[in-house]
Amino acid sequence: MIITVQKMKEVFTYCNKMYFGGKMARPKLSTGRSTYYVARTYCIPNYKTRRCGGIEIRFSEMFDLTEEDLINVMCHEMIHLNLYRRFILEKGGHGPRWHQMANELNEKYGLNIIQTYTDPPKQVGKLTFGEKIWQFIYNTFIFKEI
Ligand SMILES: [Zn+2]
Repeated sequence: MIITVQKMKEVFTYCNKMYFGGKMARPKLSTGRSTYYVARTYCIPNYKTRRCGGIEIRFSEMFDLTEEDLINVMCHEMIHLNLYRRFILEKGGHGPRWHQMANELNEKYGLNIIQTYTDPPKQVGKLTFGEKIWQFIYNTFIFKEI
């Protein structure tokens, strides 16, 4: 299944209700065409307060995800969201607090929230040459996950 923002809204609402006690406010949701990640949670810095000024969850349209993948990946991102909102910033994004929450949800609900895919989902569609170059530059030199 190819993700859409509408589908993301539905999955977010479902995960929030089932696994996060309905306590998570929905952040901005968007899709992109990255082949470097299945999904990412961005923290937009507010330089005045030196804190997170806004958060966005973005799913890539370039992978064929099952319904189960969608739920697990959304939960993965929602753990980042939860930590960002509590101003807990771990190096690389997947520190002990992230892993603790992932393990708890996996054990409690039989989920399969993982840090990275060893066997990534099937890629769908092709990037243009220009997109490939831009993504390489962006991911190598610009994007820094926190
Ligand atoms: Zn992550």
